[in-house]
Amino acid sequence: MRIAIGGFLHESHSFAPIPTRWADFLSPGGWPTVQRPATLLDTLRPSAVPAAGAIRLAEEAGVTIAPLSWGFANPAGPVTAEAFERLAALIFHDLQAALDEGPLDGLYLDLHGAMVAEHFPDAEGELLRRARAILGPDVPITASLDPHCNLTAAMVQHADALAPFRTYPHVDMKEAGARAMQLLFDRIALGRPFAKAFRQIDYLIPITGQCTLVPPMADAMEARAEIAAREGVAELGLCFGFPYADFPDCGVAVAAFAADQDAADAAAEAFAADLAARESAFAPDIHEAAAGVAEAIRIATKAERPVVMADTQDNPGGGGHGDTTGLLAELIRQKAEGAVLALINDAESASACHAAGEGAEVSLSLGGKSDGAPLAVTARVLKLTDGRFVCTGPMAGGNAADLGPTALISPAPGVRVIVTSRKMQAYDQALFRHVGIEPAAQRILALKSSVHFRADFQPMAEAVLVVAAPGPVVADPATLPFTRLRPGLRLRPGDNRRTA
Ligand SMILES: [Zn+2]
Repeated sequence: MRIAIGGFLHESHSFAPIPTRWADFLSPGGWPTVQRPATLLDTLRPSAVPAAGAIRLAEEAGVTIAPLSWGFANPAGPVTAEAFERLAALIFHDLQAALDEGPLDGLYLDLHGAMVAEHFPDAEGELLRRARAILGPDVPITASLDPHCNLTAAMVQHADALAPFRTYPHVDMKEAGARAMQLLFDRIALGRPFAKAFRQIDYLIPITGQCTLVPPMADAMEARAEIAAREGVAELGLCFGFPYADFPDCGVAVAAFAADQDAADAAAEAFAADLAARESAFAPDIHEAAAGVAEAIRIATKAERPVVMADTQDNPGGGGHGDTTGLLAELIRQKAEGAVLALINDAESASACHAAGEGAEVSLSLGGKSDGAPLAVTARVLKLTDGRFVCTGPMAGGNAADLGPTALISPAPGVRVIVTSRKMQAYDQALFRHVGIEPAAQRILALKSSVHFRADFQPMAEAVLVVAAPGPVVADPATLPFTRLRPGLRLRPGDNRRTA
């Protein structure tokens, strides 16, 4: 059996300040860079990306792999037409070259599912359409997806099956890649296409309400498993949606794939009804910055373990630049003793710290490059690093991070900040340890993250507070200036205001 493997991953935020360019695929902090066929298997095999799980299963099954190209960029604004076409051209050139060498039995793609390209709002629908056009109707195609994807009818139409992760924090990325590969094997064995059913849900779920560790999403995922088992489907996927993409298919969706149409329809219908019934439970619990910091200090005074604060609205994993200073300013104003913020993405300030040297005092216009609101501080440079470390947490363990020149600084008594030259979501304890800080021994950890931090940080936390300081990854999508959503979609769970 001969199967092609490639990938193209991006989560695009229509309202984020900075578009995603080709250079962002070449230097994705914390993830592998663009891979060509010659390097794909050796680079991705030991990594934490979904394709690693697909590769493992294929190799265990004795499949001959035809490697294609693969690329990932961190979430930010829509992908430029140039960047989309450059990576798409590589992948489909490689696919055609693989076909010239001999027939293919299938194609697995490692996709995110929430990419918006400047010229194709449903970017994955377009990628799958192109793959199908090259392979024809008879060669099966499956893909793994991030559950933050905005699933579209075109994606379901052009793929044979789609396998979103089941967890957020995403600790089953490789399992989902393996599941997509298994679905490819099952589809090949079936000898004909799966029946499919696709349903979109009528309300957006805010990012912080999507965590699968706690209700209501934990309960919804349990219902998913029961329905999938009862109806005997090959796959029943839930896509939570990425509620920052301004196009008609933004939002929550389910897709079922089964040997017969009745089972696929019954599973999708039952699960859509279950999600409709849970709507009001999905409204989020969020603190304003000042109140959040006051609460963190109050809890930390009596706690032996750190209070963890999520600076959710500047989450680099959601398209934030990782450099807004609202939460930091509040930590300084309220003299939050023993607080460490990870991170401020500001190459200029990191460079000034490196020029000054460890122990020096520097005046910085810190962060705020993305929103024009930097914080003027005089800071002590405590430690300098090259920003390179290997992640150790349950989500990204094994991934090499390269954040460029990095500095640990103290901009006010008792408060420390990790300043980096590239952005990364603060979801891994190694980010702290590489500047000499043991996270479990701190009083307050402030993290640029929305939910992913919970995998590595929640077990050690005395309390977790989600805080809404300034940033583009708004905790309440209903406040965004959407213009292209589909009619009838509610922007907030339980909200009776609908888009026109
Ligand atoms: Zn995700």
